[in-house]
Amino acid sequence: MIQYQGRVYRPPSEADSLILQATLGCSYNDCTFCGMYRDKPFKVRKIAELKQEIEWAASAMGDVRKVFLADGDALIAKTSYLKEVTELCYAAFPNLRRVSCYASPQALDKRTVEEMALLREAGLTQYYLGVESGHDEVLLNLKKGIDAENMIRVAKKATEAGVKLSCMILLGVGGRRLTTEHALESARVISAINPRFVSTLVVTPVEGTPLYDQAQAGAFEDMDPAELSLELRTFVAALDLDGTIFRSNHASNYLPLAGTLPRDQPRLVAELDQVIASENPRSYRPEWARGL
Ligand code: SF4
Repeated sequence: MIQYQGRVYRPPSEADSLILQATLGCSYNDCTFCGMYRDKPFKVRKIAELKQEIEWAASAMGDVRKVFLADGDALIAKTSYLKEVTELCYAAFPNLRRVSCYASPQALDKRTVEEMALLREAGLTQYYLGVESGHDEVLLNLKKGIDAENMIRVAKKATEAGVKLSCMILLGVGGRRLTTEHALESARVISAINPRFVSTLVVTPVEGTPLYDQAQAGAFEDMDPAELSLELRTFVAALDLDGTIFRSNHASNYLPLAGTLPRDQPRLVAELDQVIASENPRSYRPEWARGL
């Protein structure tokens, strides 16, 4: 059977996927807002262990259609290793449609386009990339380890390799002072990448992280749902995309929205304008339903 090690995180769209921990923790593990793997040393797991888990899943779980390779940064593992894991999955699950993983900017920088294309041909066809912001000062504050122009460069390596990218933007990370710049610069970076999917999450200072300590010290200001909606509106209105699916369905969001851009952009902006103009707190997902 599969014995998961520590807490396992996955994107909302991998809810019905088989999760395999190809790696444990995150090799970077320094982002100030991220508390997911602080207590978990980074490790690439042994192929033999994964093989056993894949064999068990093939006999016990039947029809596996999607596999998500955890934990936080599986793409940092060697290409030969990821290729073998991916091939084992496709051999074991006849109806498998895709294998995906999180990819840090550092992993995207390390992997060559040729390596990513090789993995895509083997079936590792989608990465989730936390862009978080397109604003350099915000990225620096978050200790993301990369600036906006390099974020665009490394993300484009993946799209050049034919990999589908799902990019995440963190609402509220610039605080009130940088809200407009964060929204506009994030829209600029996402537009330059033109990923297949883009989603927003609302930042929440998690205990045990530097961001939490900053919030406790009054150095990080939480924004309210109305302010975050305005930030989201600025972001969505400024996007210049070609066939990207947008979602704000992560539990942290106050407004669950979805659409394909640019087709649904006017509707999404109108929906946000309506909510902002109504000034009705009941327009927002209540705190108890945000699943944090
Ligand atoms: S790269 Fe991702 S998993 Fe790693 S610390 Fe940053 S946000 Fe967390």
